[in-house]
Amino acid sequence: MVQSSVLGFPRMGVNRDLKKANEAYWGGKISRDDVLAEGKRLRLAHWKIQKDAGVDIIPSNDFAFYDHVLDHIQMFNAIPERYSKHGLEPIDEYFAMGRGHQKDGIDVPSLEMVKWFDSNYHYVKPTLQDNQTFKLAADPKPVREFLEAKEAGITTRPVLLGPVSFLALGKADRGQSVDPITLLEKLLPVYVELLESLKKAGAETVQIDEPVLVFDLPEKVKAAFKPAYEKLSGSNLPKLVLATYFGDIVHNFDVIASVKHLYALHVDLVRNPEQLQSVLENLGSEQVLSAGVVDGRNIWKTNFKKAIELVETAVQKIGKERVIVATSSSLLHTPHTLDSEKKLPEEVKDWFSFASEKAVEVAVIAKAVTEGPAAVREQIEANAKSMQSRASSARTNNPDVKKRQQEVTPEQHNRKSEFPERYAQQKKHLSLPLFPTTTIGSFPQTKEIRIQRNKFTKGEITAEEYEKFIEKEIDDVIAIQDELDLDVYVHGEPERNDMVQYFGERLDGYVFTTHAWVQSYGSRCVRPPIIVGDISRPAPMTVKESKYAASKSSKPMKGMLTGPITCLRWSFPRDDVHQSVQAQQLALALRDEVVDLEAAGIYVIQVDEPALREGLPLRAGKEREAYLSWAVDSFKLSTAGVNDSTQIHSHFCYSEFQDFFHAIAALDADVLSIENSKSDAKLLKVFVDKAYPRHIGPGVYDIHSPRVPSEQEIKDRVEEMLQYLKPEQLWINPDCGLKTRQWKETKEALSNLVTAAKHFREKH
Ligand code: GLN
Ligand code: ZN
Repeated sequence: MVQSSVLGFPRMGVNRDLKKANEAYWGGKISRDDVLAEGKRLRLAHWKIQKDAGVDIIPSNDFAFYDHVLDHIQMFNAIPERYSKHGLEPIDEYFAMGRGHQKDGIDVPSLEMVKWFDSNYHYVKPTLQDNQTFKLAADPKPVREFLEAKEAGITTRPVLLGPVSFLALGKADRGQSVDPITLLEKLLPVYVELLESLKKAGAETVQIDEPVLVFDLPEKVKAAFKPAYEKLSGSNLPKLVLATYFGDIVHNFDVIASVKHLYALHVDLVRNPEQLQSVLENLGSEQVLSAGVVDGRNIWKTNFKKAIELVETAVQKIGKERVIVATSSSLLHTPHTLDSEKKLPEEVKDWFSFASEKAVEVAVIAKAVTEGPAAVREQIEANAKSMQSRASSARTNNPDVKKRQQEVTPEQHNRKSEFPERYAQQKKHLSLPLFPTTTIGSFPQTKEIRIQRNKFTKGEITAEEYEKFIEKEIDDVIAIQDELDLDVYVHGEPERNDMVQYFGERLDGYVFTTHAWVQSYGSRCVRPPIIVGDISRPAPMTVKESKYAASKSSKPMKGMLTGPITCLRWSFPRDDVHQSVQAQQLALALRDEVVDLEAAGIYVIQVDEPALREGLPLRAGKEREAYLSWAVDSFKLSTAGVNDSTQIHSHFCYSEFQDFFHAIAALDADVLSIENSKSDAKLLKVFVDKAYPRHIGPGVYDIHSPRVPSEQEIKDRVEEMLQYLKPEQLWINPDCGLKTRQWKETKEALSNLVTAAKHFREKH
């Protein structure tokens, strides 16, 4: 029979229970035993959900209090001494690495956390020493949790991060120079020991994740697979299911083929269904295929017909016994259950499937293939109806939007003139000094702002009262900017809850959930809006506030928008049209907004694209260039509708442009503000090397910390920047928006910033 399997389940629980328990524990409100017990309760609940859904192969060790990579760091005793030397309880040592520890005379910052592949989940980076050793923890977590499930009557398949990925995703600690992959020999005995214990505990198969196989790997890493997996096979060890996801693995077949004795191979057939044929051809003669056909990264119902066809293709070639129906990746990236959504329109809700529903889907698909479609006729018919409803719904299809997209011309992507001509006009029009000062958009979102917004959402105050409140907030930030004597003002964004949600709520084609949280890192969850259909702008979204602000000051007022790629990336996108189509629809809606802002007298407009970089495909090459091409086009389409005298700004929360500088340059933004205060000013060299002609505001201080930078520090920073940028190119601004700061430090920091700018103005 064809079995069904889930690669991992979200950890938070139905009401973000894990977040609440962790935060209560960190805040000293519940005990260590309490938080551990809550973890146990959640694991059990999640196994039961999957069992009741009819899933044959249920994962264990997918649960983590903070992050699964961090679990491995601790389990292998790859714990830097600065954490281990205090003799903390294991769970406290674990949290210390995840989020830092500042208590009882101990003060250590956290380990570095970075994005997990191209998802919005963040993992803790293994941080290794030159003389690194590894030692398996007593009572290792995967064994403990396997037994815990077994006791509850559920046989699970433990999930481990494979040794090659564990090392390849790691780095040398500060002051160390070890190349992590050279530690493989030392690490393998620990894996062997762990696998032996799992086998003794009764685990027949183990899912071993090697997601780095979707990358273009350095030779050294490729060569590590064969020796590694030779050691990890033997009759005393469980059979291994090697799992890959978030991309195709065709370019690494030689590596996978070199690995003998693999019981099964898991591939992501949602992202790359076209790899199925070559995967089948390259599969070992007895190997099992785990076919990832249910999307672990999005919230759409699986199209049963298509998924069954894919699985059937595999079954015809290798037989039912050798095929497993699976989720494409762990379901970690999907919300817990659709049941919690009480406010979604019924029509739309019928198109969605969250983690608990996806567990049912793998089971149904497996049954359909095993016993024939008649065995699950009802489900298949209902599914076909949902697909039909979504495809033909007026919510998904807007002929006006489609027509407008067909009519987009190449010229619409380009400003009227080249930068020198534009700049000449802008200089006159805006009368900007040398070293102009500005901020990135938001000012502190005070408690009062949140209270009033809440009241308004709950209907406790009228729209008019709320509007008056926002106007007063704008008045205040303008008075403060007057006092500070900044050059280009902002209205402060007090009306915005979140930079994507705010726009999503004003655009047709979006829906919002009440409970669809997904883990971003540690206890932090995000609730992305969902793009369900063609996007259009029924009315201006930001003009009222910007216009009001402009009327209150004679200084140029900067309009503030979230760019098309950021809106797309920080939402759940549609899976029925290409992302480039969705980006273009967003771009057209924003283009109208930009033109309306200009007509309302806003002559500086910033379109933020902090998510541009994270959308970069994982492998360099054609795919990456294709992405950059449509991403750049959508930015240009959204901004190019204005006159030469209107200045377009863009903002990025990172300074690593080295690998896609050509795309940043192609945006043709008049001014770029970028995060730079924590990076080496040397990163700016790329602007010199490529003779970048336009203007740049590299952040002069870090806004993530309440620390106030001194005037001297800012001067020093600017001085460094001037080694790379011409004085007439340089803007003076903070790293990012100020919404998470308090007013006191904000004013002090900006006051120092303005004084520093004036100093350079005099000097040049
Ligand atoms: N304009 C936004 C702000 O100032 C930009 C936020 C961001 O880049 N993440 O808050
Ligand atoms: Zn930013």
